[in-house]
Amino acid sequence: MKSIPGKAAKNRLFKSSLILLVLIISGAVAAACYKAPVTGRSQFIILSQSEENQMGVAAFQEVLKEEQVSGNAQYNEAVTRVGTRIVGVADTPQYNWDFKVLKDDEQINAFALPGGKVGVYTGILPVAANDAGLATVMAHEVAHVAARHGGERVSTDVLAQIGAVGVSAALGGSDPWVSEAIMQAYGIGVTVGGILPFSRTQEAEADQIGLIYMAKAGYDPREAIAFWERMDAAVKGKPQPPEFLSTHPGYGTRINNLKKWLPQALPYYEQSQKAPNNAITK
Ligand SMILES: [Zn+2]
Repeated sequence: MKSIPGKAAKNRLFKSSLILLVLIISGAVAAACYKAPVTGRSQFIILSQSEENQMGVAAFQEVLKEEQVSGNAQYNEAVTRVGTRIVGVADTPQYNWDFKVLKDDEQINAFALPGGKVGVYTGILPVAANDAGLATVMAHEVAHVAARHGGERVSTDVLAQIGAVGVSAALGGSDPWVSEAIMQAYGIGVTVGGILPFSRTQEAEADQIGLIYMAKAGYDPREAIAFWERMDAAVKGKPQPPEFLSTHPGYGTRINNLKKWLPQALPYYEQSQKAPNNAITK
């Protein structure tokens, strides 16, 4: 399993991140209160939207240097087809969305970086099985971006650590913990396969927002439950459970939450222009 990105890439991101930290500390960036879509949860995000986007774009470029983009036409068409519909209802004109299928059949996973950069591993596509299953995955990832979960992680984690250790130590630059914190905030480096170690709150929120997005985009939200049941079966008996298991809520909790949110999502589905539910084959 690969770590993303490599050491040199980490150093480059570390440098740009330090510049950003200086900006934050010098007070050039005003802290802003932001509200997540759908849930209306108040968030503390100290980065501006454009700073957050820039860091996401840079991180995505590093990921793409290390990962192989899949040439599978079926998979690429499916991800573009479903991703376009989801983004169409997400009300996020500030993002330049980019969906990539990454070739790794062992990774039953997907990830999203700030600014609208989404990676879907080939390993998750057989589990997605159809457009509605894939919509579950992609709406969850689009929701992470739309709710600015990456920027929120940076704001809380990095600043908390700077507060604890001291600004001068942070800017000394020799301590690896600063770059580690930033990489962790973006869900890369420490974990494998580009999994975002978002908080449980953020994960549950991405599920809730994602359910609304998929319904609005014309995918039956009940299919989200069927998808997570397939995920549960797919990862059972694997010698090494994917990171998805440790960083995401348990499947039982997740499915129960989705059932609870279904009444909120179904009216959107009923009013939507229904999407075709194509089978996804290799
Ligand atoms: Zn997630």
